[in-house]
Amino acid sequence: PHATNGTSTYSIACIPADGIGPEVIAAGVEVLKTLSEVSDFKFQFEDYDWSSETYLKRGQYIPDGGLESLKKHDAILFGAVGAPSVPDHISLWGLRLAICQPLQQYANVRPTKILKGTQSPLRNAHTGDLDWVIIRENSEGEYAGQGGRSHRGMPWETSTEVSIFTRHCVERLIRFAFETAQKRPKKHLTVVTKSNAQRNGMVMWDEIAQEVGKHFPDVTVKKMLVDAMTCEMVLKPNTLDTIVATNLHADILSDLAAALAGSIGIAPTSNLDPTRENPSMFEPIHGSAFDIAGKGVANPVGTFWTCAEMVRWLGQEAAADRLISCMETVCGNGVLTRDLGGSANTKEVTDAVCAEIKKQS
Ligand code: ATP
Ligand code: MG
Repeated sequence: PHATNGTSTYSIACIPADGIGPEVIAAGVEVLKTLSEVSDFKFQFEDYDWSSETYLKRGQYIPDGGLESLKKHDAILFGAVGAPSVPDHISLWGLRLAICQPLQQYANVRPTKILKGTQSPLRNAHTGDLDWVIIRENSEGEYAGQGGRSHRGMPWETSTEVSIFTRHCVERLIRFAFETAQKRPKKHLTVVTKSNAQRNGMVMWDEIAQEVGKHFPDVTVKKMLVDAMTCEMVLKPNTLDTIVATNLHADILSDLAAALAGSIGIAPTSNLDPTRENPSMFEPIHGSAFDIAGKGVANPVGTFWTCAEMVRWLGQEAAADRLISCMETVCGNGVLTRDLGGSANTKEVTDAVCAEIKKQS
């Protein structure tokens, strides 16, 4: 942080992008401003208009020099990318992955828990509570973009989608996962692979996990196959704590986790560069949700939780906890959007959280 007159000012790049992205990011910025009013730090926001709309006009999502310009900020707050007018693989690679991969945000972190006042499909199943952090490899693996197609349109058309696993990237991610597990009360890490069927990269994952684990004797480790893991998440959620998996596996598991926690509208994601050489990027887990875009009904809670995780990464632990507690109080009071069974709109939830922040200080 850049210190000015004894207070810290954090420079935040905002990329609201597509669909409900601009609505939830506006709500997040409002809550962050309120939080800074009652704290001894400030935010300076800079808006980037990169979106599918500007892509269709300019032919690129990120203009020349765009990535360099992101690097001057302390963090990046991202909305959602994806529009009906652009194929999903173009928009995803054009914007989100075009930021995460060059900025070496190699750890994608997704906390999940059942917030007060919200309903989980598991709630009545007597399966105990759910409080997880999923850590997803975010730089290579199944989404390395390697492969090709030949003989297009022919009956013998062939395509390959090659997963890349390097010791360097797997090791740094697994070390980060152990460090995360070590800081949590349960100190338990589940290492998810598919090493029975995939006998190269996945076996290397298992081996690296075992090696790295020797340096964390206080963390208990369990190996799970990804298929068995889906059952475990539904049937025994309280046996899990920190979970580490590949890019593809963790992508799928974290959507399952979000649904089990009640709604895709409440969960956050952090794309971290744990070396802190580059700014990290924070975004709600949900996508652009065009079916509800522009109606003012999107659930902003996923973005509030995202903002809290950003504030925590910036070193303001107490402010992050306060934001989460205010958000939970508001949910507990029944101020909920439609996806959580309520009838409040985005603005009502945002106003309630801002009021609660002021009240609690
Ligand atoms: P993308 O292609 O960008 O992933 P999507 O529409 O395929 O977007 P999501 O945006 O993840 O997928 O959403 C799936 C559904 O969940 C949406 O159709 C929407 O109804 C609901 N949803 C997602 N986010 C929210 C939210 N913040 N508030 C309320 N409902 C949401
Ligand atoms: Mg989607």
